[in-house]
Amino acid sequence: MRRATLYHYSLPMEAGVVLRNQRLKSRDGLVVRLERDGRQGEGEIAPLPGFSRETLAEAGASALEILRRWVNGEDPLADGPGLVFAAGAAVPPAPPSAAFGISMALAELDQSLPDAAPYQTVPLCTGDPDGLIPLLAALPGRKIAKVKVGMYEAIRDSVTVNLLLDAVPDLHLRLDANRSWTPAKAAGFARYLDPAHVARIDFLEEPCATPGQSLAFAHDTGIAIAWDESLRDAGLSIQARPGLAAVVIKPMLTGGLSHCRALVEQAHRAGLVAVISSAIESSLGLTQLSRLAAWLTPGVQPGLDTLSLMRSQLIRPWPGSPLPLSTHGELFQTLLEPVARLS
Ligand SMILES: [Mg+2]
Repeated sequence: MRRATLYHYSLPMEAGVVLRNQRLKSRDGLVVRLERDGRQGEGEIAPLPGFSRETLAEAGASALEILRRWVNGEDPLADGPGLVFAAGAAVPPAPPSAAFGISMALAELDQSLPDAAPYQTVPLCTGDPDGLIPLLAALPGRKIAKVKVGMYEAIRDSVTVNLLLDAVPDLHLRLDANRSWTPAKAAGFARYLDPAHVARIDFLEEPCATPGQSLAFAHDTGIAIAWDESLRDAGLSIQARPGLAAVVIKPMLTGGLSHCRALVEQAHRAGLVAVISSAIESSLGLTQLSRLAAWLTPGVQPGLDTLSLMRSQLIRPWPGSPLPLSTHGELFQTLLEPVARLS
């Protein structure tokens, strides 16, 4: 017998979390729980406002339709960015967040998603760089941290990057400009960067507004770049380009598990590093992304350092997090009746 439950959650965010000029007071999403033959699997469906094309209501409506079919014995095939049924061409493909959450629940159910995860992430450096240096110096293994750039003057970013790389000699950085620089500002950042540090910048995500400007920046400066937004907004295909080192894949914004897996394989075939990254999921989604990264991108640390933006965790704890844990019982739930009672 199959049973599906959808839970709605709303987790309070820390004050001051702003996404694309919009304050995010709470993170809202759905948890899908599937049960079959005594086994269970869960997944998170959480479109990110300002980043996802679909709303939570649209993702929820799509998920309900898919789960009704699943409870009635149909099995969806993850195929492309959405989730489609082999025998259900009339059903529109699910939006990425619904496809991802349901495909993760199915992967737990059929035990195709390995349990092993290091629960490590690349720390996101915010605030006073001097205060971060002892933390960065103490990182285990290959030391990597992430710095958001492009929010203030480009020269201030160069100073911060120089300071961190000077202070911790075996530190490597991932930088992310979120397309905020004009070509002139990007050139200004490179001009004030110590040339000896370029090799320790693993990549800089999306320096400029267009992929062409970003590639020109990489060519002119020798700083490796990575695609993130361009993979979705500009619909770029994953292929090797001079100066391109990596692609950042955010499954919640991208689609079902098999689609994400295909993108990772495309990146590897093109000689690129694939980095699994979060779209501010709850601890449930983050622990699953850590397992997914350990499986699909072994040896590459995922970018999952977003839990501290929230005031509580959800259902499954991230090891070591001090935040309180919300349980199923605290969430609003919609139970889809098992097939025996529907027929
Ligand atoms: Mg990015």
